[in-house]
Amino acid sequence: MPVYEFKCENCGKEFEKFVISQSKVKEIKCPDCGSKNIKKKITACGVKGTDSNGISGTPSCSPFG
Ligand SMILES: [Zn+2]
Repeated sequence: MPVYEFKCENCGKEFEKFVISQSKVKEIKCPDCGSKNIKKKITACGVKGTDSNGISGTPSCSPFG
């Protein structure tokens, strides 16, 4: 499921959003302050490596759910 983690660069709020298409990412605003200064976090947790793009090592799964 395409759930991405975001962090507001304005207030530091972290939140998750269900993103259907990448283009929708630009429309995402911070739920706290309404800023569009949002940074998408990479959630390696939900990604199963079917093809390796030079990524090696253990999958980095964030300890905080
Ligand atoms: Zn914010």
